[in-house]
Amino acid sequence: MQPTDPLEEARAQLRRAVDLLGYDDYVYEVLANPDRVLQVRVTIKMDDGTVKTFLGWRSQHNSALGPYKGGVRYHPNVTMNEVIALSMWMTWKNSLAGLPYGGGKGGVRVNPKILSPRELELLSRKYFESISDIVGVDQDIPAPDVYTDPQVMSWFLDEYNRVRRGQFFGVVTGKPVELGGLNARIVSTGYGVAVSTKVAAEKFLGGLEGRTVAVQGYGNVGYYAAKFLAEMGAKIVAVSDSRGGIYDPEGIDPEEALKVKRSTGTVANLQRGKKISTMEILELPVDILVPAAIEEVITDENADRIKAKIISEGANGPTTTAAEKILVKKGVIVLPDILANAGGVIMSHIEWVNNRMGGWITDEEALKKLEQKMVENTKTVITYWEKNLKPEENSLRDAAYMIAVERVFRAMKLRGWI
Ligand code: GLU
Repeated sequence: MQPTDPLEEARAQLRRAVDLLGYDDYVYEVLANPDRVLQVRVTIKMDDGTVKTFLGWRSQHNSALGPYKGGVRYHPNVTMNEVIALSMWMTWKNSLAGLPYGGGKGGVRVNPKILSPRELELLSRKYFESISDIVGVDQDIPAPDVYTDPQVMSWFLDEYNRVRRGQFFGVVTGKPVELGGLNARIVSTGYGVAVSTKVAAEKFLGGLEGRTVAVQGYGNVGYYAAKFLAEMGAKIVAVSDSRGGIYDPEGIDPEEALKVKRSTGTVANLQRGKKISTMEILELPVDILVPAAIEEVITDENADRIKAKIISEGANGPTTTAAEKILVKKGVIVLPDILANAGGVIMSHIEWVNNRMGGWITDEEALKKLEQKMVENTKTVITYWEKNLKPEENSLRDAAYMIAVERVFRAMKLRGWI
């Protein structure tokens, strides 16, 4: 199966929501394209004296609900359409979470793993300088995404403050604590996935205690989702990363998996159970599957072989529209990305508010707020789905999209844009 263009996927989802809401075609037209995409050329001098050029983008999808908000990813396969799709998903994620933000996303087409720290810093500074005209505390607020972290955010912040000559802490979120970030931001996406999954497990599986879980992807989202799900009573039986994975029905300790990944580069070196591939992990006989790696891993090719009863989308866009049709027919509950992985951006909002107030919220308070919001949002989506949709035809994604798109629609109407 050829991977589809993520933008086509995002548009198909929007199309569905617009149709389900009974809106006219013009609503689709307005939202199918971003407000603006900026492409930048990032040229840096490498350590060996050669000169390399990378392409980067910042897509600003919609700002009806507030300033654009969303992460920046560094990945060798990033395309402009992918960044646009991701910015559209941020519009829905922020809307569904009830945050005063529109949707944005950035990306640089680079493999950061082969850059030296100096090259990575230069690239980060150059990229941010190039987009500095269109970002700002009240305009567009970047954050971490795939392969970017608090250190990269520090360079972004510093570069912006250098160019703009000020101390604008709220221009990026996901910063280190020393620069106005929250420790809780690091755990927040994975923690949110765990909380949302727990609510769904209580509703659909009679509880989370003892339920088996497979986690695809062992980065920031996958690891913390595994850690918190285990703490909440679930049993992690499989983990994987881009280089392979391990399945052990006896259970896997998330900390041990992290240690092995840190020391050898991959969780696949865990000396227990059986080795599996990154794709095989999706088809294991587990109660809960957490895809927390990249887009389009659950497709119409493998959807039928999936045995999990709940799929909790830690990644953005892991399930294609065609796959979801099959899953709905099988009665699999999919907690959509814009719901399940919203913990990161919710915590970003807490960080941003904190920066603007110049105050000190504690990590404990921040996590409590995040937990409340994740529980509330998950219940809202499930209730909307039960009340307004047909479980044999509609996914929770349909419900989540309808809520999210309707809010953006109303904001655009109130502003007089449409
Ligand atoms: N990159 C994360 C996401 O996809 C977080 C974005 C943010 O905190 O702004 O939701």
